[in-house]
Amino acid sequence: MIEIKKSPTSKIDKTNFDNLVFGQVFTDHMMECDYKNGEWQKPVIKPYGPLSLDPSARVFHYGQAVFEGMKAYKDKDDKIWLFRPEENFNRINRSSERLAIPEFPKEYFFNALVELLKLEKDWIKKGFGNSLYLRPFVIATEPGVSASAAKEYKFMIICSPAQAYYSGEVRVKFSEKYSRAADGGVGYAKAAGNYGAQFYPTNLVKEEGFQQIIWTDANSHEYLEEAGTMNIFFRIGDKLITAPTNDRILDGVTRKSVIALAKENNIDIEIRRVSVQEVIEAAENNELMEIFGSGTATVINPVAGFGHKDKKFELPKLENSYASFFKDKLMKIQYNEAEDKFGWRYEVK
Ligand SMILES: *Cc1c(COP(=O)(O)O)cnc(C)c1O
Repeated sequence: MIEIKKSPTSKIDKTNFDNLVFGQVFTDHMMECDYKNGEWQKPVIKPYGPLSLDPSARVFHYGQAVFEGMKAYKDKDDKIWLFRPEENFNRINRSSERLAIPEFPKEYFFNALVELLKLEKDWIKKGFGNSLYLRPFVIATEPGVSASAAKEYKFMIICSPAQAYYSGEVRVKFSEKYSRAADGGVGYAKAAGNYGAQFYPTNLVKEEGFQQIIWTDANSHEYLEEAGTMNIFFRIGDKLITAPTNDRILDGVTRKSVIALAKENNIDIEIRRVSVQEVIEAAENNELMEIFGSGTATVINPVAGFGHKDKKFELPKLENSYASFFKDKLMKIQYNEAEDKFGWRYEVK
């Protein structure tokens, strides 16, 4: 179904797989599919390279753009796997709907992924932590600066080899002024503008020695919602707590998977609002055991400490953390090293 134009050359021999910076190197091919005349045209896989767009294209002026983040893994027998790709497919269409972008057909999405991954299979390295990060995205390409939904779009998938990366200890600041999302807004969508709007407040907390912000609800700043590209979990005593998803919070695939694994392993989990006050009190009473983020890029990211207003707190360093338990469980499923009880793996063949 898909047209494939192979690249005459490959960058793979010039790529140092032992020293990859996340999201900096891209593979030899990309998928491109245009929407015009009211329908998605035939998807094409072609050599990776720059786009030529009219400067008046809507995406540049009104941010009509959404994206996804997913990974392909290679097991010991060179089989290639995706993790719950249907979730990413459904989510990009939910994001698109909110941004008035036409829905992308399922068979195009899966066909493109499979063909692209077969072509780029040598870019996926074996070994725990190695993967090929996939970035599907949609942009409004129709020329013209009138503020209305475009009639032309491009759906693309680009691929970037990734290593397990350790970003150093992460300390987070609870937001007390800026907001990521509001009721009725686009917080639940992976809409490009959600991310661009975080850079400035994040730079401010970096000056205070934090790496990331934990966003609180826009109305009161009293409830903890999520990090910039990760959902967030709190462990108080042996209880794990995470906020319910709503129209401000992104429904993360990793979050969902952690919740399912917690239930399966009899870990006490509550899905409810988590207040700033509750977390600070728990920290003061030495009951706050862990905070960790969940997301495709880092799987599980433990938090070493947090700040709120002028106060700073450090978290204990645990031997048997929930964070490492879930990371190990998830990765073993992703790399086909553990039984897949939930049917989360998808073989690319
Ligand atoms: C992508 C993202 C997540 C994590 O979602 P996964 O599906 O687990 O990768 C969480 N929060 C935000 C804001 C995100 O953009």
